[in-house]
Amino acid sequence: MNVLVVNCGSSSLKFQLINSETEAVAAKGLCERIGLDGRLVYQPTGGEKEVTEAAMPTHTEAIKMVLDALVNPKTGVLKSLDEVEAIGHRVLHGGAKISDSCIINDEVISVIEECCDLGPLHNPANLMGIRACMELMPGKPNVAVFDTAFHQTMPEKAYMYAIPYKYYDKYKIRKYGFHGTSHRFVSKETIKFLGLDPNNSKVIVAHLGNGSSISAVVNGKCVDTSMGLTPLEGLVMGTRSGDLDPAVLEYICNKENISVSEMVRILNKESGLLGLSQGLSSDFRDLSEAMENGNPDAKRAIDCLCYRIIKYIGSYIAAMNGVDAIAFTGGIGENAALVRKTVVDNLSYLGITLDEEANKARGEDKVISTSDSKVIVAVIPTNEELAICQETAALVKNQK
Ligand code: ADP
Repeated sequence: MNVLVVNCGSSSLKFQLINSETEAVAAKGLCERIGLDGRLVYQPTGGEKEVTEAAMPTHTEAIKMVLDALVNPKTGVLKSLDEVEAIGHRVLHGGAKISDSCIINDEVISVIEECCDLGPLHNPANLMGIRACMELMPGKPNVAVFDTAFHQTMPEKAYMYAIPYKYYDKYKIRKYGFHGTSHRFVSKETIKFLGLDPNNSKVIVAHLGNGSSISAVVNGKCVDTSMGLTPLEGLVMGTRSGDLDPAVLEYICNKENISVSEMVRILNKESGLLGLSQGLSSDFRDLSEAMENGNPDAKRAIDCLCYRIIKYIGSYIAAMNGVDAIAFTGGIGENAALVRKTVVDNLSYLGITLDEEANKARGEDKVISTSDSKVIVAVIPTNEELAICQETAALVKNQK
């Protein structure tokens, strides 16, 4: 089944056309600067990358350009749009009502609308993408794959914040977690690749990218994760602070005479690796290069990043009362041998040992612990687009 996978941001739209059976990507690309001037980057597999500047006042024009590119007689990969059998949308927030991917109908749309408060940047953009596809490809099934869904199996003790209960009652303030599509995909793949028992396994997934989160997965079900009500909680990320004492907000707001929302913006956009490195970079590669050249700001940022990962892994091993496998994924998790080594070396108290040679792995499923290690450590590349494609195809086939 040909599935168009769509991931809408407020002014951008990424897409891939994937065959769910062969897993082959026919074409991919992105629309940028939607609402401003507009630019489409289109890349058919095996063909030349094309860049087209054209006005895209809304997501509807952006999707229209993508569809036109896909059926373009010269560079397109489809004869007609009839060959697109379903559309899979990445949706940020499904709140507490949605625990799985679903075929989009009026009810699902109203839940996504209700959750706009919780995902103010993403949910409205996701809805625009959904509505545009419904308008331009009437009658085709649209599926929503939620970033929060996989984490809905967390028990109450893991998702509740210890604040007055009325805030949960009134506003549903709790931990939701994100990157769920990746955590689901990588935990499943880890179990399969390592031959673990799906009904008797404890796995930790460290998704480390620009945004990062860790999850604890027992028997394929998420029991805890590091992101919270929003993606700000948890690890040190590219520009997000992750965990901190909430009193820091009031203190800095008073000292600098800035508003709480300005401070939250700083915690999201100017903190993490970027903030710790005194503005050097939010990108791990830049920082590791600078650290090799003796830059102390880069070293501080990387030390803090690794230390927070170690603490989360340690706490999830305690929460699950053990662990069978730890999987590294995401841009940093899949590529940064240094981060994996720093983390795994600090787990030696558990009898976990790294195979230094295997740790040179990049971009493939690979065990990186030694054969006598008490816990298996592996690199398992994520593929969120393929996961969305597969979930979409499974739901649509089931419905037929
Ligand atoms: P996003 O959260 O935006 O999807 P990615 O998963 O693509 O992010 O991860 C981006 C991060 O991965 C950046 O910090 C980048 O420096 C890092 N990264 C990508 N490739 C490498 C590499 N070869 N070695 C080390 N770090 C890398």
